[in-house]
Amino acid sequence: MASVYINNVQKHYGAYHALKGVCAEMADGEFVVLVGPSGCGKSTLLRMIAGLEGISEGIIQIGSRVVNDLRPKDRDVALVFQNYALYPHMTVEENMSYALKLMKTPKNVIADKVGSAAKILGLTDLLKRYPRQLSGGQRQRVAMGRAIVRDPQVFLFDEPLSNLDAKLRVQMRTEIKQLHQRLKTTIVYVTHDQVEAMTMADKIVVMRDGVIEQIGSPLELYDRPRNVFVAGFIGSPAMNFIPGAVQGDRFIAIDNMHLPLPSGAHENVATYGIRPEHLKLDDTGFPADVIVIEPMGFSTQVIVKVADTLLTVISSERLVLQPGSTVHLTPHVPAVHLFDSNGLRISDLVDGISRSDH
Ligand code: ADP
Ligand code: MG
Repeated sequence: MASVYINNVQKHYGAYHALKGVCAEMADGEFVVLVGPSGCGKSTLLRMIAGLEGISEGIIQIGSRVVNDLRPKDRDVALVFQNYALYPHMTVEENMSYALKLMKTPKNVIADKVGSAAKILGLTDLLKRYPRQLSGGQRQRVAMGRAIVRDPQVFLFDEPLSNLDAKLRVQMRTEIKQLHQRLKTTIVYVTHDQVEAMTMADKIVVMRDGVIEQIGSPLELYDRPRNVFVAGFIGSPAMNFIPGAVQGDRFIAIDNMHLPLPSGAHENVATYGIRPEHLKLDDTGFPADVIVIEPMGFSTQVIVKVADTLLTVISSERLVLQPGSTVHLTPHVPAVHLFDSNGLRISDLVDGISRSDH
C-alpha cells in the first residue's frame, strides 16, 4: 500500500492543454474517486499515475518514490479499465495467473494468490470456465482478480462499470467497496458518474476542463460545494439555482419569489442555491405551479414552475397532487447555498449548522 502525491501536474497534447496544474494527495489506503464530465482529464491523470502517459510538467510520487521516469511495470500499480479484455482462449484461472507467469513467479505462489483472489471475488467455482461462459459481472470480477493477484501498491480503475447494466453496476459498486474494505489498498477510481463517486469514495476529486474544482469527502462536497459547478454536479436530482439579488433581508428572484436569507447575508449574492429536499411544501411559502409529479415510492419528486424557472422538489411523503395545481414552498434557510456573481460560494453565514438538520 502507498500514498499517491500529485504536484502541479501539467499535460499538453500538442497545443491542447489537457491538465492545468493538478495537485492532489491520496493517503495510504484511501479510496479516491476522480469525477467530472467527459473530457475533463480524468483518464489522462490516471494514465499518468500508471505511467502510460508522459508528464509534461510536475511531479507524481507513489509512496516515497518519484515515479515520473519509472516505466509502468516498475511502478507497482494495477490498472482496471472499462474495456478490460480477458484472453478468450484462457480460463479464468489462466487469465488471473498470466501476469504472474510473465514475472516468473513460482507455481505454488501463483496458485496461492489466484486461489485467495478467487475466494475474495467469489470466483472459486468458476476458475475452469472460459470468459464466454461468464456473465458481465463475473467477467468484471475476473478483470479485478487479475489486478488483485499482483498485490499492487495502488489500484487504478478507469470507469470499470460503465459497460454494465444499471442493476449490475449498483451491485458491483458494493462489491468494489467491500473489496477495498478487505484489502485496504489505495484505490484511485475514475468515473463520470457522481452517484458512483458519492457512494464509493472516502475522498472525491471533482475535475473540470483540466483543473480540480474541489477535493473533499462526499458529504463535504454535498454540504459545502465551493462553487456553482460542484454544487450542480454533486447531488441527484441537482441543486436548484435561482438568479436574483439581495434586497434588505430577502433574496428577490423573479416575480413572486421572495426568498428568505440567513441573517447577515451579503449584498453580493447573485445565485441562491437550494437542494430539492430542502424546499418544503407548506401553506405559507411562495406559490409555484405543479408541472410534473414523479412518484418514486420512497419519495415523491415534483417539478414546479415559478414564472419561467423550473424547480425540483423532493418530499419524503406520498403527495397527491395534480399537474396545474398550485403548491407553496419554503426553503429551509440553514440549508441555503449562496454564490456570488463569479459562481463562488459565499462562506456560511451561520457557523456550525448541520446541513442534515432538515
Ligand atoms: P476523461 O477521461 O475525463 O473523459 P481524458 O483524460 O480522456 O478525459 O481527455 C482529456 C482531454 O484530452 C480531452 O479533451 C481529450 O480529447 C484530450 N486527449 C486525450 N488523449 C489525447 C491524445 N492522446 N491526444 C490528444 N488529445 C487527447
Ligand atoms: Mg476517460
